[in-house]
Amino acid sequence: MCIACQTFLHGLIAKGLLIETGVNGLYGRSGAFEDVVTHLDQLITRYGESDHAEVIRFPPGMNRELFEKSGYMKGFPQLAGTIHSFQGNDREHGELLEKQARGEDWTALQKATDVVLTPAACYPLYPVVARRGMLPPNGGLFDLNSYCFRHEPSQDPARMQMFRMREYVRIGTPDDVTAFRALWLERAEKLVGELGVPFHLDVANDPFFGRSGKILASSQRDQKLKFELLIPIESTEAPTACLSFNYHQDHFGGLWDIKTAAGEVAHTACVGFGMERITLALFKHHGFDTTVWPSAVRSALWG
Ligand code: AMP
Ligand code: ZN
Repeated sequence: MCIACQTFLHGLIAKGLLIETGVNGLYGRSGAFEDVVTHLDQLITRYGESDHAEVIRFPPGMNRELFEKSGYMKGFPQLAGTIHSFQGNDREHGELLEKQARGEDWTALQKATDVVLTPAACYPLYPVVARRGMLPPNGGLFDLNSYCFRHEPSQDPARMQMFRMREYVRIGTPDDVTAFRALWLERAEKLVGELGVPFHLDVANDPFFGRSGKILASSQRDQKLKFELLIPIESTEAPTACLSFNYHQDHFGGLWDIKTAAGEVAHTACVGFGMERITLALFKHHGFDTTVWPSAVRSALWG
């Protein structure tokens, strides 16, 4: 862990912006932190407003069966979180409590439930859209926001285990979705420009697991399927991805059998805003006290 990470995280905790829980990457947020998140959310809404996206809010858990079908465990088993619960009898309950009292692992006495933690805000959406049947002629556009879970404990405050992702998701023809992604690349530069933080855009890849994952990652890069907007938070050499622009081609359309009005397999793309990361970038560059942030930044957020 770098010294800078320690310093920024400690600063955030000392100022009460983040509240420790004893687990790396799991924090409470103060009122001041949440105020920035809320107004950032509203700023994003203003940028997307004219598109009239359909707003859907899912809870931070999704149907395990649909999660399995989504293929997440093929690509990112190391990040997934599943919800387990005790489903035993009195004898097993006693056993569980004894193990707990002895400080032993008691979790094997639990069983998987039908719910897993949402890994990315758009994952629960595709099966819902598929269930509606053929897309309307202009395809679909959705506005999502969800707490997401990823098992990547870290002392870097920008790498949380539970964080919020605001997303716009476009589903339609290849032309529809590539135009959507180009539009959001342009809008994002303006939006983050208003926040007065340094940034740049770059081609990126997802952290696919294992040896075969390396091949997937380099093909994703070669095809420029993922872009990220990066802002230095912990270090200037390794800036943090704060927004992602993903073109899934026909991956989810094929998987979930989503068809365009012309009967073709739908293409999908999403833009994801890391709400905590952008908020942390603001605190990093403008200081811990929002009342003294530059007036242009304050008026972008608070009007
Ligand atoms: P991804 O699906 O990996 O492209 O993630 C979408 C956005 O979520 C990223 O651009 C980040 O801003 C944010 N994000 C991803 N992982 C984390 C994390 N561990 N902690 C906080 N934000 C994250
Ligand atoms: Zn997405």
